[in-house]
Amino acid sequence: MRLGIISALAEEQHGLIEAMESPTRRFYGMREYTAGKLWEIDAVCVLSRIGKVAAAMTAAILVEKFEVTHIIFTGVAGSGDKNVHVGDIVVAEELIQHDFDASPLFPRYEIPLTGLTRFASDRALTDKLATVAAKTGRVHRGLIASGDQFIGKRQQIEALKGALPDILAVEMEGAAVAQVCFELGIPFAVIRTISDNANDDAAVDFMRFVKTVASRYAYDIIEKFCKA
Ligand code: SAH
Repeated sequence: MRLGIISALAEEQHGLIEAMESPTRRFYGMREYTAGKLWEIDAVCVLSRIGKVAAAMTAAILVEKFEVTHIIFTGVAGSGDKNVHVGDIVVAEELIQHDFDASPLFPRYEIPLTGLTRFASDRALTDKLATVAAKTGRVHRGLIASGDQFIGKRQQIEALKGALPDILAVEMEGAAVAQVCFELGIPFAVIRTISDNANDDAAVDFMRFVKTVASRYAYDIIEKFCKA
């Protein structure tokens, strides 16, 4: 296995590069890719920046240029469900691009020519991540919705939830990585710690949480994943 680890923001990958054995850095397409060993696993860490296009580009380059065989996205997200609380962990079983709409040519949410509205994560990677994450926090498994919007208003999350009632978390990259991995045949998983409730307090909660808990969680979970 050569594992690609993507996060959008530096806080979401805090400490991982420092934990790498014999790291080598390479800049490409405005991103810094660091390859090395993480607890005996051959890994490449990179920050994608924010949004679906940024994440898609990063995932494709990880596969095509850095030859990773598996991808994990680790980061924070807004809660998409009343039972999912700040500090909980959501592991994606499926991902959807909630802002994609080519109707009436294609059904709402369907990604043209794939025939899919939802992309499933790799079962084995997802099971392993969910198992190790349960030692760090409360884990939920299910649907993560991604779009090029920070969901920070109650009306926004209510509208999303009305259209897609099984959403557990909202973020801005996961479903893009999912589509790229589906098209390239690469097993992937997405894990998100909840930083905010995607409501009117989201921006303030996000800022506070991403600095404190998110960084420690990511390190903890990836360390346990690599050692398991
Ligand atoms: N002001 C921040 C913007 C971060 S955008 C900054 O400049 O750093 C939020 C990031 O966290 C995205 O990468 C997204 O994937 C995730 N995220 C967390 N909460 C979110 C929410 N409520 N809606 C959408 N994305 C969210």
